Amino acid sequence: MDWPDTVGVVGGGVVGLATAYSVAARARAARSTPATSVTVYERDEPGAGSTTRAGCGLRTFYTTRTNVRLAQAGLRFWRRTEQTLGVDVNFRENGYCFLTDDGDTVAELDRQVRRQRAYGGPAFACTPEAVDRVPGLHAEHYRRAVVAPAAGVADPELMVEALLAGCEREGVTVRTETPVTDLDRVDDGVRVGTPEGTETVDRLVNAAGGWAPRVAAMLGDDLPVEPRRRRIAVLDADAPAGLPLTVDLDSGVYFLPGPDGRLLAGGHFSATPTVDPDAALTRERDPDYERDLLDRARRCAAVFDGTTVAESWTGMYAMTDSRVPIVERVDGVVHAAGFSGHGIMQAPGAGQVAADLVAGRRPSLASAAELARDRPTVAPDIQF
Ligand SMILES: Cc1cc2nc3c(=O)[nH]c(=O)nc-3n(C[C@H](O)[C@H](O)[C@H](O)COP(=O)(O)OP(=O)(O)OC[C@H]3O[C@@H](n4cnc5c(N)ncnc54)[C@H](O)[C@@H]3O)c2cc1C
Repeated sequence: MDWPDTVGVVGGGVVGLATAYSVAARARAARSTPATSVTVYERDEPGAGSTTRAGCGLRTFYTTRTNVRLAQAGLRFWRRTEQTLGVDVNFRENGYCFLTDDGDTVAELDRQVRRQRAYGGPAFACTPEAVDRVPGLHAEHYRRAVVAPAAGVADPELMVEALLAGCEREGVTVRTETPVTDLDRVDDGVRVGTPEGTETVDRLVNAAGGWAPRVAAMLGDDLPVEPRRRRIAVLDADAPAGLPLTVDLDSGVYFLPGPDGRLLAGGHFSATPTVDPDAALTRERDPDYERDLLDRARRCAAVFDGTTVAESWTGMYAMTDSRVPIVERVDGVVHAAGFSGHGIMQAPGAGQVAADLVAGRRPSLASAAELARDRPTVAPDIQF
C-alpha cells in the first residue's frame, strides 16, 4: 500500500473528520515513512455544516448492500467510541420502527425484512398493535410495522468531539475558519488555495457535504450531488423512555429522542428543490412547516397531543439519485459526498473506503464500483 506523504481533507463535518482519522490511523499502523501528514481544512468550526443539525438516528435497514455495509461499519464504530476514543456519544439502542398503511409499501417492507436478514441485520415485521415502545401509537392508522432492533440514536455534537479526539491522537491538523477557495491539479498533487496562501498536497479528499459539488467544480469536475434543505424540530416534551426512531412512511414524518431526552420530529412533505448551500442553513422558524409537522405527528401517536415546537432549524441532505453516496477517486482526488440523510451513520465506513482510495488500494468494506458515480442505476434507497 502506498501511503502518500501529505493528504488534505476539505470539510470538517463527520465525513471529513472520519476520513482524516482513518487515513492517519491506518498510515501510522502501516508505519508509512515518512509519516503521512493529514490536514483538515474547515471553513467554519468542525461539525458546523449539516452534521450537528442532524436528528442522529443510526440504522442499518437499507435496500442496497452498499448502504447496509457502510452503516453496519458505522454502528460498530459509534457503539465503541468510549473505549476507542474516550468519548461516549450517548448511543441508545432504541431501534427503528417503520409504519405504513399502504399495500405496496407493506409488500416492499416485507421483502426488505428478508433482504435485511440476509445482510446480517435483525429486523421483523409485526402488527402495529404489537409495537410496545411507541406510547399512544395510533395503530388503527397502519397495517404493518417493521422493527429493526439493532439501531439507535446518538448525539452528533459528541460524535464530532469523539472524532476530534481521534484526529488529535493521530496527529491530524484541523484548521478551522480556513475555507478552501481554489484548487489546481499539479504534477505532484493538488494545489490548495486558502486565504492564508497556497500549499500542495499529494492527495485531496472532498468531504464538503452540500458544498462538495462546488469544491469539485474548482477542479472542473461536475459531481452529481444535489443539496436539499431539510428541517427538524425540537418539541417541548420529553421523549418516552426507549422510544425508537419511528417513521410513518406514508406521511413522511419521523420522530426520535434527542440528545437531551427531548422529543425531536422532522420529515419533508413536498418536493424540495436544490438549494444554494450558503443559504440553506438557518435557525429561523417556519410556522407553516411546524403546523404541518405536528398534524402529521399527532395522527401517528398520542405522545404529540398538546405538544408545541420549541425550536426548529435546517440542514442539508446532499442527495444522489440512488441515495447511495459517492466515494470515488479521480486522479489524486477522492470525493466522499452525497450522503443524503445517512452521513452520520455511514461516515466511519465511508472514511475507511476513502482511506483505501487515498492509499491506492481496493476498498475491502464496500464495492468501489457501487460507490462510483457511473455505477449501474438502482432504485432509490429508503429515505425520509
Ligand atoms: C434535519 C437533518 C436530519 C438528519 N438526520 C440524520 C440521521 O438521523 N442520521 C444520519 O446519519 N444523518 C442524518 N442527517 C444527514 C447528516 O447530517 C449528513 O449526511 C452528514 O452530516 C453529512 O456530513 P458531511 O461531513 O458530509 O457534511 P457537513 O456536516 O455539512 O460538513 C461539510 C463541511 O464542509 C465545510 N466546507 C464546505 N465548503 C468548504 C470549503 N470550500 N472549504 C473548507 N470547508 C468547507 C462546511 O463548513 C462543513 O462543515 C440529517 C441531516 C439533516 C439536515
